[in-house]
Amino acid sequence: RPFTPPDAEGGNVKVVVRVRKFVRRELDQQSPCLVQMNPHTQQTTLHPPEESRYSRKQLEEKSFAFDKSFWSHDEKDVHYAQQHDIYASFGEEFLDHNFDGYHTCIFAYGQTGSGKSYTMMGTPDQPGLIPRTCRGLFERIEEEQNGSITYNVHVSYFEIYNEHVKDLLTPRTTPPTYLKIRESKSDGVYVQNLIDEPVKCYEDIERLMKMGDLNRTTASTKMNDTSSRSHAVFTLTLKQIQHDIATDSTIERLARMRLVDLAGSERANRTEATGRRLREGGNINQSLTTLGRVIAALADPKRQKTLRMNGLQNQSKRRVEVVPYRDSVLTWLLKDSLGGNSKTAMVACISPTDYEETLSTLRYADQAK
Ligand code: ADP
Repeated sequence: RPFTPPDAEGGNVKVVVRVRKFVRRELDQQSPCLVQMNPHTQQTTLHPPEESRYSRKQLEEKSFAFDKSFWSHDEKDVHYAQQHDIYASFGEEFLDHNFDGYHTCIFAYGQTGSGKSYTMMGTPDQPGLIPRTCRGLFERIEEEQNGSITYNVHVSYFEIYNEHVKDLLTPRTTPPTYLKIRESKSDGVYVQNLIDEPVKCYEDIERLMKMGDLNRTTASTKMNDTSSRSHAVFTLTLKQIQHDIATDSTIERLARMRLVDLAGSERANRTEATGRRLREGGNINQSLTTLGRVIAALADPKRQKTLRMNGLQNQSKRRVEVVPYRDSVLTWLLKDSLGGNSKTAMVACISPTDYEETLSTLRYADQAK
């Protein structure tokens, strides 16, 4: 397999957008579709709604261009993007990088109900990125089995809720058990006592995915009664151990794949949150803002250079721009999967009927490019 490091000068962040089809409520209300995508230019255009709380002047038509725009709105359209198309557009490429020994990270961003879980986990009939990546991983291991390399795969699944980490592979307890975050020279940042289950086949993972999803925190808000207020981080760790018979030595390569279903990006006030809900909202916004800043810093080649020179500049006591990993638990824990030579992709999930939230998601995705 050729050694293909990700582009050294930025280009490590891929940003795509996906619009979902109408849900029951939108069909019942005969909501108009406000989103248009051009499959040739990858341009996404958002149209202002006819009736709006604001005067027409304030709402404008807005266009954005991303690496790819997935039209999953109208199944009859020739450009309709299936679950497989999302995986094919970068999931497979990311697996290549993992086998080359690089970490990867895929996020689904968007308001509650915009299709994040559908994109990441999917349904039994329409599996999403996570099950497809797991299947792809084992298919490759089987293909590449040649005797001199041993493959070890581990799975962990945790959620970050209100800046606390909970293991999704252990049964829920009352009160909830929060895990501590540690940092060491040898292991970097890690969650203490997190279950990291060895798996031998896809079916092993499937069992863990189901268990984790059952344990995920769901609390009702006015907007959507099964909305998730937590970030769910699914991690596959691939260890390749190469045995060199001639020298009787071994080389290890470790790669981590992070697949993250982020908490809903809607602003807390929109769901009339109070008390605990409001605090959650604040924490969610803080971690999503920090994530946006981290990704933007990684996507910008000029800033990448600044980062690489960081050490030197520190010594000369000049002001440096530092990636704000530590400003949220999410970015702190994902630090090693976000910087350096790792590859990051963000799927901005949008609803076809919500002007304000869709605009805010498209803007967020735009600054991450
Ligand atoms: P989120 O995770 O962002 O809250 P969901 O993934 O739960 O949103 O999606 C909301 C609803 O829309 C679900 O019923 C889901 O099955 C459906 N849905 C989302 N995206 C698509 C799509 N591309 N095609 C068909 N149905 C979708």
